[in-house]
Amino acid sequence: MSRRKLAAGNWKMNGTGAALAELETLIAGHADPDVEILICPPATLLYRAAQLAANAPLQIGAQDCHPEDAGAHTGDISAAMLADAGATHVILGHSERRENHDESSELTRAKAKTAISTGLTAIICLGESLTQREAANTLDIIAGQLSISVPDASTAENTVIAYEPIWAIGTGLTPSVAQIDEVHDFIRTRLVARFGPQIGNGIRLLYGGSVKPGNAAEIFATDNVDGALVGGASLKAADFSPIIAALEASA
Ligand code: PEP
Repeated sequence: MSRRKLAAGNWKMNGTGAALAELETLIAGHADPDVEILICPPATLLYRAAQLAANAPLQIGAQDCHPEDAGAHTGDISAAMLADAGATHVILGHSERRENHDESSELTRAKAKTAISTGLTAIICLGESLTQREAANTLDIIAGQLSISVPDASTAENTVIAYEPIWAIGTGLTPSVAQIDEVHDFIRTRLVARFGPQIGNGIRLLYGGSVKPGNAAEIFATDNVDGALVGGASLKAADFSPIIAALEASA
């Protein structure tokens, strides 16, 4: 089954208005209909980023949402607010949320359900720590996170899974292609077993963790890698563009 490629950038807590110039450069440089490009800036930039990207082949996403539709939750942002600001996607269950905010797979699923029912695409992150990998527990950890974090409402259109080994995020370390291949194949098999071939083979799988212009092509050549979730190297168009180009070349 052919799946549309996705290059997603996670700006995390980086960027003020001046950073929007990077989006203009990306928009000017890419127009391949086979590759979807997404930037997830901080919430403060969502509206302006979405305005700038309107009618351009660039989508804008958020980095988190609250599981409830509205209410007394000081400082939180609902999925409906994100959509209203122009977001089409939301990253959920990122390891930095799981670690820094003690977020569980159960909470990730609740957020994903709300995001999906609001019309957003949920990008659900999974990944093992170095200790878990060294103890040969990677596939068990991924199986647990996958089965709990992904809601029953998931389809190929409303859900993307990002495999992000925690030890590879922001460290410059990456798993071998064989290790990425093993985990992505495992996730694919589990999705097909749970959702059937149509949905299970349709949900896109991204790799994330120190993707750079220099390693993107070999990662994108891996079966069941449908694109990347990129942190540090998505902040500057000069770094993200060659990664997008590598994905375009693989499409
Ligand atoms: C991320 O945080 O999602 C990520 C993949 O970061 P980096 O590319 O900087 O490792």
